[in-house]
Amino acid sequence: MPQPRRAGKRKEPQDFGWVISFGCKTTGTLRRLKVDTAPSSDTSPIEVPCPCGETHRVTVSPYRRRRAADEPFDLEVKSLDELR
Ligand SMILES: [Zn+2]
Repeated sequence: MPQPRRAGKRKEPQDFGWVISFGCKTTGTLRRLKVDTAPSSDTSPIEVPCPCGETHRVTVSPYRRRRAADEPFDLEVKSLDELR
């Protein structure tokens, strides 16, 4: 009986964008901002139009991570520069 072939190669990571999380003080929840392009090392603050209706000033942490395929997000931009 033929053995099922094992995946010899690791799958290429697909690009689902990046996630920067920020706290919404108004509703006390953690929101996720999806960024399509890799955030640069620029950590200057961004102005995020939050789903709560307010614009939050968010300090961009140097810590950012790739988004998982099925990870939900609250809003989306192509680049963080749109929010500066
Ligand atoms: Zn908010």
